[in-house]
Amino acid sequence: MSAVLIDGKARAAALRAEVATGVAAFVATHGRAPGLTVVLVGDDPASAVYVGSKGKATREAGMISGEYRLPADTSEADLLALVATLNADPAVDGILVQMPLPKQIDSDRVIAAIDPAKDVDGLHPINTGLLVSGRDGLVPCTPSGCMLLINEAFGGSSGSNIAGAEAVVIGRSILVGKPMAALLTNASATVTVAHSRTRDLAGHVARADIVVAAVGIPGMVKGEWIKPGACVIDVGINRIALPDGKTRLVGDIDFEGAMARAGWITPVPGGVGPMTIACLLANTLKAARARAGA
Ligand code: NDP
Repeated sequence: MSAVLIDGKARAAALRAEVATGVAAFVATHGRAPGLTVVLVGDDPASAVYVGSKGKATREAGMISGEYRLPADTSEADLLALVATLNADPAVDGILVQMPLPKQIDSDRVIAAIDPAKDVDGLHPINTGLLVSGRDGLVPCTPSGCMLLINEAFGGSSGSNIAGAEAVVIGRSILVGKPMAALLTNASATVTVAHSRTRDLAGHVARADIVVAAVGIPGMVKGEWIKPGACVIDVGINRIALPDGKTRLVGDIDFEGAMARAGWITPVPGGVGPMTIACLLANTLKAARARAGA
């Protein structure tokens, strides 16, 4: 068997086009475009690239992109003051504070200060609570994107075939693993959450119809663990050095091995990554509509 490659780039392009249409309708009704403001503290090069591409995608969707780049020694008080200003600004529908933050800033305190209605990263405890309760809220972008890809593999947007499926989520971060497990539980999958203390990871993966890996260790999920026909979603983004001195991005799944057994698989790059930004745009439009009472 050779798995069907899940084309995250194409799915993300379709979602971005859908968002752009929704934005045009929002502008026609409300006379203004939705606004997303991203705050970057410090000069981490990877974060700077993410922030740049988020701004570009926001503008391409017809929304207003705001950007604050603050020095690495910014105090927590100054960042909280900026968040308060953005909370009060009616033109700002979505606020994203790029993680990780420098050591002197308590990221939990900053996330909790963001208006939950503008929390397009879905990390505020109110949104986390709504997700776990199975109620409508703003859902973290990466697991949202994974869910859209899983739905597609399982035959359509309703994802009804997910009900009763065995799912294993590897990783329990607040950003990916935990919300992913909640989304799959809400879709009536039977969910196991694995982490660094899990015994017999191979045994858990071998039972799973759906495997989501969000760990950050290149190729740690072996191809021979995969149940034949499973849907395999690789969230990991790891840069590895090649013998010729160049580097390459790889995921957490042993791609070649898994490809031979899985039913569906996401590539890295070109799988989950593009979905994350598309879902951020979708969250911003959703926040704008909710704030406008639409
Ligand atoms: P974290 O480092 O916050 O979490 C990693 C998780 O993996 C932890 O729960 C940890 O367990 C678990 N883990 C570590 N070692 C093992 C092991 N040997 N066996 C099983 N589980 C293990 O990472 P994130 O969730 O933020 O990100 C995970 C990966 O996804 C990274 O590669 C990141 O770059 C990528 N990513 C990709 C995105 C995209 O858009 N495609 C977006 C966000 C992240 P424990 O809790 O016990 O420590």
